[in-house]
Amino acid sequence: MSPLTLRVFPDAVLRDNCTPVERFDSTLRDLLAEMLVLMRARKGIGLAAPQVGLCQRLFVAEIEDRPLCVINPTIQPLPGEAPFCEGCLSLPGVEVNVTRPASIVANGYDEHGQKRQWPATGLWARVIQHETDHLNGVLIIDHGPPLANTDSTTGNIL
Ligand code: ZN
Repeated sequence: MSPLTLRVFPDAVLRDNCTPVERFDSTLRDLLAEMLVLMRARKGIGLAAPQVGLCQRLFVAEIEDRPLCVINPTIQPLPGEAPFCEGCLSLPGVEVNVTRPASIVANGYDEHGQKRQWPATGLWARVIQHETDHLNGVLIIDHGPPLANTDSTTGNIL
């Protein structure tokens, strides 16, 4: 596989509605591993397939050294919303205050094709929803206006 390159707005692939993954093989696991490497190198905590030019329903995330790979996710929101300042590797220097459900249950598959359920709250709920947005062609700029001061980034680059 050729090295992955980060796609930035307004690259059209970021607006694609991604296709479900059907094959859970070593090619898929190699891709997820490479995405984690790229995400860490860019100091992000999440990275979705369209951000590397691939129209597939999968993403990686990592918080406090705990990596997560999610394939074909669906999100079940729980009651209660919270605002949070989000950045995005595909929108350098842009931050948007995004209101989302504070807690969710994510359903999907892990890198081995095992059906999984991930209850998530706080930053985990945030990153899972942000990355799932990417799989539907949705970006943070669709959730609200970019914040004026982008000098001091929050470090929450999803
Ligand atoms: Zn993003």
